[in-house]
Amino acid sequence: YQAKEEGNAFRLYAPEMNIVVHEAMEMETDLRRALDRGELLLHYQPKIDLDSGKITGAEALVRWQHPVRGMIAPGMFIPLAEETGLILPIGEWVLENICLQIKSWQTQGFPLVPIAANLSARQFRNDELIATIQRILQDTGLPPHLLELELTESMIMRNVQTAAETMQELNALGVSLALDDFGTGYSSLNYLRRFPVDCLKIDRSFISDVADDPSAAAVATSIIAIAHSLGLQAVAEGVETEEQLEFLRQCACDSYQGYLYSAPLAVEEFTAMLRQESTRTAP
Ligand code: C2E
Ligand code: MG
Ligand code: MG
Ligand code: MG
Repeated sequence: YQAKEEGNAFRLYAPEMNIVVHEAMEMETDLRRALDRGELLLHYQPKIDLDSGKITGAEALVRWQHPVRGMIAPGMFIPLAEETGLILPIGEWVLENICLQIKSWQTQGFPLVPIAANLSARQFRNDELIATIQRILQDTGLPPHLLELELTESMIMRNVQTAAETMQELNALGVSLALDDFGTGYSSLNYLRRFPVDCLKIDRSFISDVADDPSAAAVATSIIAIAHSLGLQAVAEGVETEEQLEFLRQCACDSYQGYLYSAPLAVEEFTAMLRQESTRTAP
């Protein structure tokens, strides 16, 4: 019987399908509650000046401390957040949390460094983005230059005219802008010239290969040259070895992030690092 076969097929395949669908739905339900339950947190990865070796900033990277599944990396839930629109409240929480954290470091008397937030595509094209950032800056009283926003090439090349306008508005607020994962997308150099960007972040994939792949080294060198010729900062992502660092020094890259100096740190650990830094550099 056809029906019976279908019945068997159903029994064979449906349970697995159900698990996949069920897991995704459960994750969405959990993520919806994660904000209210205080399960999201930020880790901070220091950004180091290549000449002075000092911390010149940090990137805030979101994590989800799930009550059952443990710590979940952003790659596992940001796409779902993006798809469901949950990225808007999550992204707002990230920005607010960063600004409050900087204020707290200020209160504790640490020398302040700018902190970068990653914006998602949906956040970037949201009509309320500018008003939201303006409100957060006002509420926290944070000097805008202490907040940096990381965008990707695909976000800005999707609709160049609108992106340029949004970037002008962000620039007018006084926050700085960086292009993340630079070199992996399709930016037109001509547009780059017209966007109010402050910094190019060279994607980790080029950095990891600079020592053994001449073409990766050529791309990294070119990005640094482009950045400097446009008056922008060049930052290397994912620096893991002394060899990579030496290469970047030779190309006059401005700063770097990576496991060689430090992985992203919990806020207490990063605060301890700032404390150490302030005593180390005190006169
Ligand atoms: P990204 O902005 O390019 O961040 C760099 C990623 O590389 C981070 O992964 C960081 O932990 C990792 N990393 C840093 N140094 C090294 C290194 O030396 N070696 C290696 N192998 N990896 C290194 P993470 O924290 O898992 O974040 C992944 C991505 O998730 C980020 O890529 C960013 O696109 C996204 N993301 C993180 N936080 C947020 C957020 O608050 N909002 C949005 N929209 N996206 C976020
Ligand atoms: Mg980033
Ligand atoms: Mg990046
Ligand atoms: Mg990257």
